[in-house]
Amino acid sequence: MSDRYGDFVQSSIGKKVAKNLGLPLPVTLDRFESGQPLVRGSVLIGSATGEDKRVGTSVARILSELHAEVFINNDDNVKDALADAGIEAKANTNTEDKFKVLLFDASNVRNVDDLKQVYEFFHQVARRVEKSGRVIVIGRPPEEEADIDAALAQRALEGFVKSVGKEFKRGITAQLIYVSAGAEQNLDSTLRFFTSARSAYVSGQVVRVQAGAEVAVDWAQPLGGKTMLVTGASRGIGEAIARVLAREGAHVICLDVPQQQADLQKVAGEISGSTLMVDITSEDAGKQIADAAEKRGGLDAVIHNAGVTRDKTLANMDEQKWDMVLNINLASIAKINRYLFDHYVLKADARIVCVSSISGIAGNLGQTNYATSKAGVIGLVDATAKQLADNDNGMIINAVAPGFIETQMTEAIPFAIREAGRRMNSMSQGGLPIDVAETIAWLASPASGGLNGNTVRVCGQSLLGA
Ligand code: NAD
Repeated sequence: MSDRYGDFVQSSIGKKVAKNLGLPLPVTLDRFESGQPLVRGSVLIGSATGEDKRVGTSVARILSELHAEVFINNDDNVKDALADAGIEAKANTNTEDKFKVLLFDASNVRNVDDLKQVYEFFHQVARRVEKSGRVIVIGRPPEEEADIDAALAQRALEGFVKSVGKEFKRGITAQLIYVSAGAEQNLDSTLRFFTSARSAYVSGQVVRVQAGAEVAVDWAQPLGGKTMLVTGASRGIGEAIARVLAREGAHVICLDVPQQQADLQKVAGEISGSTLMVDITSEDAGKQIADAAEKRGGLDAVIHNAGVTRDKTLANMDEQKWDMVLNINLASIAKINRYLFDHYVLKADARIVCVSSISGIAGNLGQTNYATSKAGVIGLVDATAKQLADNDNGMIINAVAPGFIETQMTEAIPFAIREAGRRMNSMSQGGLPIDVAETIAWLASPASGGLNGNTVRVCGQSLLGA
C-alpha cells in the first residue's frame, strides 16, 4: 500500500521540509534479508553488578553462536562470561564507535540505587545507536520477587525501556525481557528475534520468558519438518505469515473461505503448501482442519489470523454486524481450539498464535464489536496459557496485537484517520504484513517453549493503549 508522505521524506528536500516543520521523519526500517547476518553491527553489553551470573552466561553463549562483534565498558563484570563463551570483547573507549545493539543485563538490579547503573550504561551511548538499532534490557519478573525493593526496581525498568523507545527514533526499538530465574537457557529465540531486523516494527514490548523445553534447533530452518495451519492465508497478513513460516521450513496448510480460492491456491502453490477452503465459522470447521492435519500426521502450530471489521458507532451498529465480527474473530477460534484439543490434532509441543489487535487493548471509536472480539482473543490466550502450563505437554499459546499495518483492511480507512494511525507511533509509519509474520514465526519456533501467555504488540510502539 502507498505511503506518499513516507516516500516524500526519504528525498533530501522532503527531509528538510519535514525537519523545519517539526513533522515526523520515518526512516526505512531494516528488515530480514536472506544472506545478511542476524545482527548487522556491533553489540555493546553491560550488566548491573551482582552475584547472579546466569543471564550473563546465557547472553554470552548466544552472542558467540551469532558471531557478533561485542564491546564492553572497561570494568564490566560480564567480561568473564564473554571470555568463557570464547568472545574477546573490545573495549568501548572510542567515542566515535556506533552500536547496532545496546544490551543490558539488569537481572541483578535489587533496589532503586541499582537503577543508577541502568542510567549510567545507556546515558553515555544514547547518541551512538545506529539507525534501526536495538535496545534490550533483561530483568527478572517483578511478580516473582519476594522482596519489595527488588520488585519495584524490576518493575521500574518498564518505564525506562518504553521511554527509550519513544526517545531514540530513527527506527530504533526498545524491549524488556523478563526472564524467570533458572529459565535463562530459554532466551535464545527471543534474543535472536529482538537483536535482528525481524523485529523491525516491534517496540516498547515487555516479554516474559519462563522455563520451557530446551530443543536443538537448526537456526537456518527452525521450522523444518513442521506442519502449520494459517487461517485467512489468501492475502494481507495471513499471506505474509504463510510465506514466512514456509521460508523458515514449515509445510503450511493455507486456509481461507471458498470465495478466496484463486488467491489461496496462488499463495499455497508458491510456497509448496496445501490449501483448505473452509469458513471458520462453519459447524464442521474443526473437523475439516483435523482431517487436513491428519494427512500430515497432526499439527505443530495453528495460527488464528482470519478476522474482519464491520465498523459503526454503537448507536448505528445493527445486530448482524455485531454477531458476524464476534463470531469470526472470537467464537470460531475458541471452538476450533476446543475441537483440536479434544481430538488430539495438536502434537506435543504445539504452538498456537492468535492475532488480536491494539483495538482490543485500547478500544477504538466505531469498533465496539471488533475491539470486544480482539480483547476476547487476549482473554482466550491468557486462560488457555494457564491450562497449558498445568498440562506439561510442551504446548504454548501467545497473541500478537498488530497496530497500523499496511493492508487492504487499513487501506479502507478514511484518509485523515488513516494518516493519524500511520504516524502516531515511535516509527512514524505503518508496519508491513511481514512484521507481524516475523513475530509469529518467533512465537511458533520450537525454541520458544519458554513463551506462554504473552501478548506482543506489533505496532511500532503506537500511542494507542500504551
Ligand atoms: P484481510 O481482510 O486482508 O485478510 C483477512 C483474511 O481472513 C481474508 O483472506 C479473509 O478471506 C479471511 N477470512 C475472513 N473471514 C473468514 C472466515 N470466516 N473463514 C476463513 N477465513 C476468513 O485482513 P488483514 O489486514 O490481513 O488482517 C489479518 C488479521 O490481522 C485479522 O485478524 C485482523 O483483525 C488483524 N489485524 C489487522 C490489522 C491491520 O492493520 N491490517 C491491525 C490489527 C489486527
